[in-house]
Amino acid sequence: MICDNCKSREAVVLQSHTRRKLCKDCFIEDIRKRIETEARKQGIINANKILLAVSGGKDSLVLADALSQFVNPSKLIAFNINEGIRGYNRDDQVKKLEDYLRDLGIELIKSGFRQEVGFSLDEMVSASLKKGLKVSACTFCGGFRRKLINEAGIKVSADYVATGHNLDDEAQTIIINLIRGDLLRLIRFGDKPLRVSSKFVMRVKPLRKIYEWETTMYANLKGFEFQEVECPYISQKPTLRAKVRELLYKLEERKPGTLLKIIEQFDEISQKLKNEYKLSSELPTCIICGEPTTPGRAVCKNCELLIRSGLMPQ
Ligand code: SF4
Ligand code: ZN
Ligand code: ZN
Repeated sequence: MICDNCKSREAVVLQSHTRRKLCKDCFIEDIRKRIETEARKQGIINANKILLAVSGGKDSLVLADALSQFVNPSKLIAFNINEGIRGYNRDDQVKKLEDYLRDLGIELIKSGFRQEVGFSLDEMVSASLKKGLKVSACTFCGGFRRKLINEAGIKVSADYVATGHNLDDEAQTIIINLIRGDLLRLIRFGDKPLRVSSKFVMRVKPLRKIYEWETTMYANLKGFEFQEVECPYISQKPTLRAKVRELLYKLEERKPGTLLKIIEQFDEISQKLKNEYKLSSELPTCIICGEPTTPGRAVCKNCELLIRSGLMPQ
């Protein structure tokens, strides 16, 4: 099988949404170009500093690798969080991540729930269980991760925080927000990042048009050694997301390119929504930690979770 693009090398990948057979080099170049196009649309090419939120998983390695090819690595700074999950957060994986980033010329900042919040995720989960709370580990995890990443972005004066969310993640989130009728979240989506508060560093997702199978393939073809251990709390991920994922995969299988269509159509709709919907200029701040909170909330969700778990005085 010969590559449909260069017509000379052996094809190793069938890219179902374009129906092309591609060789290793043409496939990697295709992904890099699409990431660059998206990064340009999101406006991050001219940024002075971009904080890369890296877990050590394949998507975060692809993010760092691809961005460093068209953004000067001195403008990139990586940030990794140890959530404090026994058997999942491994020092040897972080060491590999750090070595790899060093080769690209990107510095890594290491942080953790224990050192920044005072408790590991395992401790938060066990305290909440003792109190009989029905809060999943992922709720604690997502909330505190967002907080730490935003704080780190502010600390290094980053213009943007870039995450490794891929096309599959994005399409699922769009459908979930539609089902929930969450207009504010829907508006925040799209290829043009929206500043919802001056206290939030703008978030961008340069991989948002790259299929998950493509990031896996890119990582494998490049020989990355990435974190493959599954989080022990994975079964606590919201069931709605699992159902939406399953449904979208079925649709994609029947009609390759469906996920990409969802995102592209949505970007158009979201731009119109952004023009019409007037966002309040500033979000209120939490009276305990000073972080931005949602309108009508004096205490942010993270502080409320710690109070309800008995880990913070009322
Ligand atoms: Fe965090 Fe849940 Fe992901 Fe585990 S599965 S890393 S708890 S969000
Ligand atoms: Zn080729
Ligand atoms: Zn708070």
